[in-house]
Amino acid sequence: MEILTTRDKAAAYAGSVLKEGYTIGFVPTMGALHRGHLSLVECACRENDRVVVSIFVNPTQFNNPADLETYPRDKEQDLKILEDFPVDMVFIPPVEEVYPKEDTRSFDLSPLDRIMEGKHRPGHFNGVAQVVSKLFEIIRPTRAYFGKKDFQQVAVIRKLTRELGMEVEIIPCPIIREPDGLAMSSRNRLLSEKERNIAPEIAQTLRKAREKQDELSPTALKKWVTDTLNQHPEMQVEYFEIVDDQNLNPVESWDEQVNKVGCVAVQLGAVRLIDNIYFH
Ligand code: AMP
Repeated sequence: MEILTTRDKAAAYAGSVLKEGYTIGFVPTMGALHRGHLSLVECACRENDRVVVSIFVNPTQFNNPADLETYPRDKEQDLKILEDFPVDMVFIPPVEEVYPKEDTRSFDLSPLDRIMEGKHRPGHFNGVAQVVSKLFEIIRPTRAYFGKKDFQQVAVIRKLTRELGMEVEIIPCPIIREPDGLAMSSRNRLLSEKERNIAPEIAQTLRKAREKQDELSPTALKKWVTDTLNQHPEMQVEYFEIVDDQNLNPVESWDEQVNKVGCVAVQLGAVRLIDNIYFH
């Protein structure tokens, strides 16, 4: 497993792989790896000749400086974990390598950047688009793997690559959960013991909401989810929206012939958690 830290070396590595006619599967991460990340790595390893993982805590996608400061980082452990997988190259650049000067790239991601995560984290998706476009330019992946936990992010990246005319295939992968249902996340490490015990309520409430789908309208169900989670004094729901999984337009009626997904963001103490579930 090669470990590269400069964009020139990473680009040269990718160039030589592509020149041989091999495919590259790419898994971008911010590190503090868990089984959610590793499921993407496994998928990439099955479907490609060569696999590249990046570890980069991207400052431009953090709209909250305290969140960037406290974001978990564990480079040594991450590299050790990746040694157990047939990963060919890990790209782990310092910030200056990705952003040599102030990045002025800005993308038209509307309307995706005005709803849910986009509305509550201003600038977040522009930062995601900046880093993903840069990483794709360096690595030139054949396929890139993203988790459906960050449901809206997948839609944003699809739009980005379409508009930039990039040939990469975007592969969404299932959400990996703890045995109690909590969606795995690097941020889970930041939860206190008490918060960690409450956190599975998020996934459990989404599951109960799906059971209630035949009793309640989308509007009533939104209220039920919000009220149920907000009953915990430690939890504050930022949003719960039920949207069309293609264009993320809000679903007004269960009769709409679209795939419906309920997306939630919850502030639990100092930690912000997201999750989602499909409805029928
Ligand atoms: P992050 O390091 O949080 O930026 O995540 C890197 C990639 O891993 C993103 O595509 C995430 O959607 C994905 N990911 C994070 N958590 C999970 C999970 N629990 N299940 C599946 N994919 C995940």
